[in-house]
Amino acid sequence: MFVVGLTGGIGSGKSTVADLFAAHGVSLVDTDLIAHRITAPHGMAMPPIAAEFGPAFVAADGSLERARMRELVFSDEGARKRLEAITHPLIRAQTKREQREAQGPYVIVVVPLLVESGSWKHRVNRVLTVDCSVETQIARVMSRNGFSRDQVLAIIARQATREARLAAADDVIDNDNAPLGTLKAQVDKQHRAYLSLAGA
Ligand code: ADP
Repeated sequence: MFVVGLTGGIGSGKSTVADLFAAHGVSLVDTDLIAHRITAPHGMAMPPIAAEFGPAFVAADGSLERARMRELVFSDEGARKRLEAITHPLIRAQTKREQREAQGPYVIVVVPLLVESGSWKHRVNRVLTVDCSVETQIARVMSRNGFSRDQVLAIIARQATREARLAAADDVIDNDNAPLGTLKAQVDKQHRAYLSLAGA
């Protein structure tokens, strides 16, 4: 199956673009959703997380104590690595499983941190970056999540730069001030190119 890795910074419009591809019958695999599912109650990552970090990181319902873990890995790089050593292989395995089961002419895997976690680039046939300016990201995430400007800037500072994401891209969707019609036209064109690359 031909696999497109879709990436972009927070608020760039990954979900919006992914939905436009899905409207063409393209299968989506969302690694954020998988990450959430494996740390939900009785999720596959929960026994090893409990063993590694202790019961304080497991909520009463058996899911991850997200706020506590976020706080820990924000300030402790070693802890972040230990967490990722548990979650990343599980996310990769589940992604593969969903790719295998995918219907449609090709599959789009949404990987927010594709550029940051280098190995993803080798697991996809094409990298598609959704691009917009940092100011646009800030405005969208402030409005979508109710975050302050500083909160959004702190998240952006931890992600790859706009330039790095563009450098990693085989294809780019320009989603800076793009009205929905323009965005859809770009997706339609890219979809035709992927159909042809996928041999569909
Ligand atoms: P991501 O998945 O990359 O974080 P989203 O697709 O959720 O980004 O988009 C972030 C926010 O910006 C959402 O509220 C979305 O509706 C809005 N948005 C995305 N693209 C556009 C656009 N071209 N015009 C206006 N709003 C947009």
